[in-house]
Amino acid sequence: MDRFDEAKLRIKEAIDLVALIESYLPLKPRGRLFVALCPFHAEKSPSFTVYADSQHYHCFGCGKSGDVFSFVMEREGLTFRESMEMLADRAQVSLEGVFSRGEQSQRGPDPYQILGEVRTWMQQMLFSDDGRAAREYLESRSLAPAIEAWGIGYCPDRQGALRQFAQSRRLPPSVLEQAGLLRNGREPFAGRVMFPIDDERGRTVGFGGRVLPGAKPRSDGFDPPKYINSPESPFFNKRRVLYGLHQAKQKGSRRIVVMEGYTDVIACHLAGFHGAVAALGTAFTHEHSKKLERYAQEGVVLLFDGDRAGEQAAVRAMRELVNSQVTVKIALMADAKDPADYVVARPGEDEDLVIERRARFADLVDGADDALATWFRLARRRLDFSQPAELEKVGKECALLLSLVENDLRRRGLLQEMARHLAMPPEGLVRMLRKFPARTDKPEASSDDGPAPEPSDVDLRDIDPSQLPDGAVAAPRPIVAAERDLLAVLVHRPEFTEQVDPSTLQSPEVVQLFTMIRAAMGQGRTTRADVARHVFTQISSDSGKASQDLRSVFARCLARADEIKDPAAFFAMLDKDRNRANSRHSARGLRQQLQAALAAGDRDTANRLTQELVAQMRSTAPRNSAK
Ligand SMILES: [Zn+2]
Repeated sequence: MDRFDEAKLRIKEAIDLVALIESYLPLKPRGRLFVALCPFHAEKSPSFTVYADSQHYHCFGCGKSGDVFSFVMEREGLTFRESMEMLADRAQVSLEGVFSRGEQSQRGPDPYQILGEVRTWMQQMLFSDDGRAAREYLESRSLAPAIEAWGIGYCPDRQGALRQFAQSRRLPPSVLEQAGLLRNGREPFAGRVMFPIDDERGRTVGFGGRVLPGAKPRSDGFDPPKYINSPESPFFNKRRVLYGLHQAKQKGSRRIVVMEGYTDVIACHLAGFHGAVAALGTAFTHEHSKKLERYAQEGVVLLFDGDRAGEQAAVRAMRELVNSQVTVKIALMADAKDPADYVVARPGEDEDLVIERRARFADLVDGADDALATWFRLARRRLDFSQPAELEKVGKECALLLSLVENDLRRRGLLQEMARHLAMPPEGLVRMLRKFPARTDKPEASSDDGPAPEPSDVDLRDIDPSQLPDGAVAAPRPIVAAERDLLAVLVHRPEFTEQVDPSTLQSPEVVQLFTMIRAAMGQGRTTRADVARHVFTQISSDSGKASQDLRSVFARCLARADEIKDPAAFFAMLDKDRNRANSRHSARGLRQQLQAALAAGDRDTANRLTQELVAQMRSTAPRNSAK
């Protein structure tokens, strides 16, 4: 066993899956198992099941399954290596020499650590004499209770203060420059209240700075911008980072509400709306929605102003999210209010008034309508759909949206909905859309989320079954089902692997899992729990779609194994059935080859095939008659 495998094993031995999952969500004991509402899909009754003895989990709703590694990978959005580092930390297992040498030194200074130090210093500055005005500002905005939890700080209003600190701690200026804290020898954030921007793992990747009220004008006479943010950098991707997601995640929020400013986000969290996040310096993007797929089981609500800008934002969001897996709704705010205006308790204010305002905010979020409906509603305010020219404007936008949809079924569903909103039959809409050439510009593809899904890669979970065309659901495949049953038996009795010829197995997943079970047995793991652990550890090393499928197949086998009372008898029966099915299968193949040989006039081959066919029928027939 190499160091990598050894470290994996030691981590798995040290970390109890039940305790790990319980640190994220409450588990209920049920017999020997634990159940919970699935953290990976929306559901009302728990189908997420954790098996303590074999240290794996499986959701009977969405099929997600795996072990400690895959759980933190999914939940935290980590690579396998990152999940291993995180769990090693927790288990106090050293990873020295596990990953190839040199990588650490190549990586250079750790930006997260450096920005973390800057953050701590700025917080100290907030509580220094220099920070008095900043503290008063935070008091006046009722944000003081958030200083600790959100790491709010102050950048002293003296050019050179930050540089001096960096020099005293030997922090490399390159990282501070990338984060926009130093620029051309200046310190652009000087004199600002500092809001650290964390990624969803809680690492500081940048800062937002707000100017203090009554700040002196700049030397060039222009008013300083109210807010400035760190620019994009290798560690701060604005299309991905959502301000407040780390906190929302920790609170286990299943509905995420996207707003604009960081002070709004903090105010919402302080008022108990823990799903609040903000996109920074960009609209809500496709990448943001991908990020939220893991957390927002109850959907995403985008908050917009209810004016023309809101409509434009809604159109932009529709384009970005047309292929998103999460349900996106839009809530429109009236009277040019910000979320903070609703939820903040002003000093000395009557408590009933605060409660009433917060209730209105909750109603606003709860009453959010789906994105398409909101967009049509806003468009209808401006355009008269009974006028052909105006209808055409809407039609053009519909055509563009439809051209962006990657999935056929989804496109059909969207088309039907659009037709409903336009109060015309779907065929009528199709006729109208034919007038517009299909556009091909798609939302900017992300670079490291793997290849875009194939157009034919249909996720059946998202589709209303009544919309499925005939034949879209795969026909049952008895051979595969039987092979999965066989795997279930082998989990109980790995020694039976010696009696199975893997070349007779037809399902590629089953073949892979079979090989892993046989390897487990070769290493002396003969109990069911040991075999399960071994197999899950093998699978979890890579994170692709294939390993997800493999985990899912294996978890189903384990569940099936629970139902098998007498493994030996079941194995014997399966073996017999399989032989019969395999020979039927090969008989069909032989017959086809025979027909081809006869058609080609190839007598020799035809003779040979006939003999084989007869021999095979003899070998299976007696079993049927001799019982
Ligand atoms: Zn699930």
